[in-house]
Amino acid sequence: TLTQEHPVDASRVGRPIDVVSLYPKDMNIYGDWGNVLTVERRLVLYGYEPVMHYYNQGDPWPEQVDMVLGGGGQDSGQKKITDDLFKRADTLRALAEADVPMLMICGLYQLFGEYFETIDGSRLDGINIFGVYTEGREKRMIGNLVERSDRFGDVVGYENHSGQTFLRSGVEPFGLVAHDGTGNNGEDHTEGARVHNVIGTYMHGSLLPKNPKVSDFLISAAAEHRYGRFEPEQSQDQRAALEALDQFAANARRVAAA
Ligand code: GLN
Repeated sequence: TLTQEHPVDASRVGRPIDVVSLYPKDMNIYGDWGNVLTVERRLVLYGYEPVMHYYNQGDPWPEQVDMVLGGGGQDSGQKKITDDLFKRADTLRALAEADVPMLMICGLYQLFGEYFETIDGSRLDGINIFGVYTEGREKRMIGNLVERSDRFGDVVGYENHSGQTFLRSGVEPFGLVAHDGTGNNGEDHTEGARVHNVIGTYMHGSLLPKNPKVSDFLISAAAEHRYGRFEPEQSQDQRAALEALDQFAANARRVAAA
């Protein structure tokens, strides 16, 4: 309900933001679905209307796209979706260049790079949005992960991957491993990558419920893409609900960083 104290211009109620969840059937593990739920919920609490598109291979591509969220997957899930991902590569590249915010976790982060060579020697080509490449290793990199990023401060999450990722020179990481965790490769302390408004990261966790700054970066960039600016219109109840979510996140972060 909208309160007197925060009157909302009726013409702006129901401002839609179109969000694509990329391959939720095959690329969605270790709680990555929490990222989709978080974006949907926070958009509502900021006074936007989330229009969710669950895009699986073979589906028609949505006409309007203001944000794209992708999760991790088993090597087998990654193999399943690569053909379809290639069909959408030009579209995704154009969206990235148009500053559409995207979050790609683990398996899709790898496939947004140049290639992923799996432990059994097969090579999956990526769509090259990030100048990174990944090689499968015998030893999985598993555990909690805390990293520091210039833009988002401390980011907390959980990693579980066999692929070791290396950044080409000049590619910006998402963050640097602060304590705990392996990150991209366990050698250079980098974690993830970032280009335009596209974030790639190994952080499951789920990432967004625990890291509201990252959520709000994606949401404000999506609103800017759609409307030219991010303009929350909140009732008091919505503001209180958002504060409660942020409190949950702060608690989770305190535990993770301890
Ligand atoms: N299959 C990939 C790897 O093991 C990605 C795993 C994941 O998404 N968690 O590196």
